[in-house]
Amino acid sequence: TLSDRLTSVLQNLRGRGRLSDADIDATAREIRIALLEADVALPVVRTFIANVKERAKGAEVSGALNPAQQVVKIVNEELVGILGGETRRLSLAKTPPTVIMLAGLQGSGKTTLAGKLAKHLVGQGHTPLLVACDLQRPNAVTQLQVVGERAGVPTFAPEPGNGVGDPVDVARRSIEEAKRAQHDIVIVDTAGRLGVDEEMMRQAADIREVVQPDEVLFVVDAMIGQDAVSTAEAFRDGVGFTGVVLTKLDGDARGGAALSVREVTGQPIMFASNGEKLEDFDTFHPDRMASRILGMGDVLTLIEQAEQAFDQEQAEAAAAKIGTGELTLEDFLEQMLAVRKMGPIANLLGMLPGAGQMKDQLAQVDDKHLDRLQAIIRGMTPAERDNPKIINASRRQRIAKGSGVAIREVNDLVNRFYEARKMMQQMAGRFGLPGGNRGSK
Ligand code: GDP
Ligand code: MG
Repeated sequence: TLSDRLTSVLQNLRGRGRLSDADIDATAREIRIALLEADVALPVVRTFIANVKERAKGAEVSGALNPAQQVVKIVNEELVGILGGETRRLSLAKTPPTVIMLAGLQGSGKTTLAGKLAKHLVGQGHTPLLVACDLQRPNAVTQLQVVGERAGVPTFAPEPGNGVGDPVDVARRSIEEAKRAQHDIVIVDTAGRLGVDEEMMRQAADIREVVQPDEVLFVVDAMIGQDAVSTAEAFRDGVGFTGVVLTKLDGDARGGAALSVREVTGQPIMFASNGEKLEDFDTFHPDRMASRILGMGDVLTLIEQAEQAFDQEQAEAAAAKIGTGELTLEDFLEQMLAVRKMGPIANLLGMLPGAGQMKDQLAQVDDKHLDRLQAIIRGMTPAERDNPKIINASRRQRIAKGSGVAIREVNDLVNRFYEARKMMQQMAGRFGLPGGNRGSK
């Protein structure tokens, strides 16, 4: 499998320090196969790989990851980005009703989606009306009525006995009905054919013309693989659409269609359908899709763990320095920055055992204060950070001026740093940290 192949590439490259062109090429080759196996269209794969290589070549070398892992990480980030990054919400009309039109091949899942979408919208407090504009298949209207009933919403359809009816006319009248009965959203189900077909496109375009939809959702079966590109292009040119819905993700399709459609049409994937029941429906999650396309959830997890382990290593190195009393202001700054990434300092300290008694002190450790400390340390030269003892009066004056604080604050910081270092060393001893002097002295 791909995971295995990649794991061996990762192992071959382990221990090398930087991203060489050969590393990038080797990893890119595996990723390329993964994308093709996931049914991503070839031209899309080519563009994608080219972008990734470009980015990988300029990438900063990470201490946590080996080169292949870094390339995989970049690939994953690019994929998530292309698949949508932020998911777009339905755009609603300023004056109701909002009109959502569904388009796509027969069997792609439009009618089922109409029910799912209706249920989803009812859950958000909307009052949708379903509209049956598929008058081609004998059972299409009944099918929509059934899903409508399950979703608890009415369906607008041509009166029985009136002949086949004209879908464009039904569409037009449905908007009047929605206004009359105060439905704030109209979901228009349309007819599809098994393949791309001029008449179908013309009908869909005509319906679009009369209902002036706020959204046209192109519904595409994730299983159609390579055909997704030509189908999407045909619907883009024939009808036009504003968003994509991917269906049948409960099947074993790797989801390459998602990347192809997204890349070729530039339209966002908004929802994912993953089953026949009305509940089998979700907003689209780019990260989940990326790991599905790459088919290497395991590798991505490994990468995450490697990064966490690296943070851990850094923390341990700092802890060892604490124990031996070698902590410098530079370490202090680094730790401060690392800690601040995790959230407000008071929350963090509050989680420590025994912090209850320190409440008052904690309240003073506000983030603004930390900003000032950070500014002061930044104002020092590396030599001063390394050995604060050399910070004499004239240096203090320079630092205070450079970081916009009073000289007193610089003094405070330096004094407190020594106190803290001593205290931490004692604590390290008590907790048995490496290098700790176990409370002696
Ligand atoms: P339409 O022709 O585009 O209206 O497609 P339908 O809504 O009639 O769906 C065609 C078939 O696919 C039906 O049997 C549905 O039950 C099934 N279907 C639709 N969406 C999904 C899905 O997400 N997963 C699965 N497994 N089946 C689906
Ligand atoms: Mg249908």
